[in-house]
Amino acid sequence: MTLSGPTKLDAVVFGGGAAGLWLLDELRRKGYQAVLLESGALGSGQTIGSQGIIHGGMKYSLSGLVDASAKAIRLMPELWRRCLAGEGQPDLSDTRIRAQTCHLWRTKTLRSRLGLSGAKAVLRVAPVKLPKTEWPDALRGAGDVLRLDEQVIDPASFLQGLAQRHREFILQIDAAKGLDFSHRAGGPAGVVETVYLRRADSGQRLTFRPRFLVLTAGKGNGELREKLGLSAGTMQMRPLHMAAVRGNLPELNGHCADGAHTRVTVTTADDAQGRRIWQVGGQVSEDGVAMEPMDLIRHARKELEETVTGVDLGSVEWMTYHVVRAEVATPTGKRPEREFAGCEGNVITAWPTKLVLAPVLAGRVMEMLGPPGKAEQGETTGWADWPHPKVAKLPWEAAEQWYKLP
Ligand SMILES: Cc1cc2nc3c(=O)[nH]c(=O)nc-3n(C[C@H](O)[C@H](O)[C@H](O)COP(=O)(O)OP(=O)(O)OC[C@H]3O[C@@H](n4cnc5c(N)ncnc54)[C@H](O)[C@@H]3O)c2cc1C
Repeated sequence: MTLSGPTKLDAVVFGGGAAGLWLLDELRRKGYQAVLLESGALGSGQTIGSQGIIHGGMKYSLSGLVDASAKAIRLMPELWRRCLAGEGQPDLSDTRIRAQTCHLWRTKTLRSRLGLSGAKAVLRVAPVKLPKTEWPDALRGAGDVLRLDEQVIDPASFLQGLAQRHREFILQIDAAKGLDFSHRAGGPAGVVETVYLRRADSGQRLTFRPRFLVLTAGKGNGELREKLGLSAGTMQMRPLHMAAVRGNLPELNGHCADGAHTRVTVTTADDAQGRRIWQVGGQVSEDGVAMEPMDLIRHARKELEETVTGVDLGSVEWMTYHVVRAEVATPTGKRPEREFAGCEGNVITAWPTKLVLAPVLAGRVMEMLGPPGKAEQGETTGWADWPHPKVAKLPWEAAEQWYKLP
């Protein structure tokens, strides 16, 4: 067993999804002493199960009311585009881009004609109405099709790229049995002095004395806050039940608008064997929360048959997965309008609300941290042989069962 002395750090970040990894990159590039602790696989929870759309706010302005989320999001496609091209920081040029653009379409029914009204003026990425000749084949029966210059990324390679760059500062932890904190004597709840880590396999220990703890552990923030003696009521969880389709499918990325809602959101990926996958979210995945997998699959097929009329779903296979969106609690329980970062003592709790807002969240946390402290020790002493987490598997790679409908 080795026991190394406490390492003074600017920040210990908990959770390596989009929020934590983006923040760690920002911290390390700007000279902060920081490590990230991950209890499972990187991005497990929301990021790996997300649809990877770099939203510019159109989806949120369908009602014609431009809320704060549409305003916060509108600058994001440009920022991400630069990073994905390797022209901005972080350099995300090793992230696979699934699509350069999305589509927004309406069916021919009266209800679906509503929405899409105002709001276009505030969007940086204005939607472009397409002539029929430019409609994707899958949408040939649609009422209207618009192009949105919103890219779609593969979350696995996004996580992998950031994690690879900072591997030695990303440590696997056992959050249940191998993690402890001590609070500063006489300090208010939330002022943490020391973080203790212990490995179950070797008994190896590490101790950190951070200026700040940053919780970016998605739904894991709830448990961490409890362990730190902070109230658990700050977080809300909104579940989704997503569907995925595998088979002979065309490429399709975007949303079918129905009034102020997105009836279905479809994104396209290829699995490890090169088979085509459609990930199906939007209203379908909200409707499906209480449904058994087969009921959701029947519902998703009906919705796709009505909204994506140019595709034959006769011989495809289906799987479903549950995922929970973890966010700051709102009075109505609905989606928060933007990212959230709040500081109690020296504990910052943060949720990006959307993948695309990870950069904005990182900026807000950096402001709370202030300038970096003076490094007191060689940075990496004591954990050279500590294990590092892997990136989570994409939902369809982790699926145990696929179903066929008669
Ligand atoms: C189905 C779905 C589709 C989505 N599609 C989009 C989209 O197209 N575009 C978009 O912008 N947003 C989208 N989102 C939202 C987006 O995915 C999330 O806002 C974002 O990924 C949240 O990232 P995060 O890092 O906060 O959390 P997570 O990705 O949940 O990561 C949390 C990390 O913390 C780790 N962890 C948990 N507990 C602990 C602990 N105690 N100690 C240490 N580590 C811990 C977990 O293992 C995980 O690695 C979607 C969300 C869902 C659910």
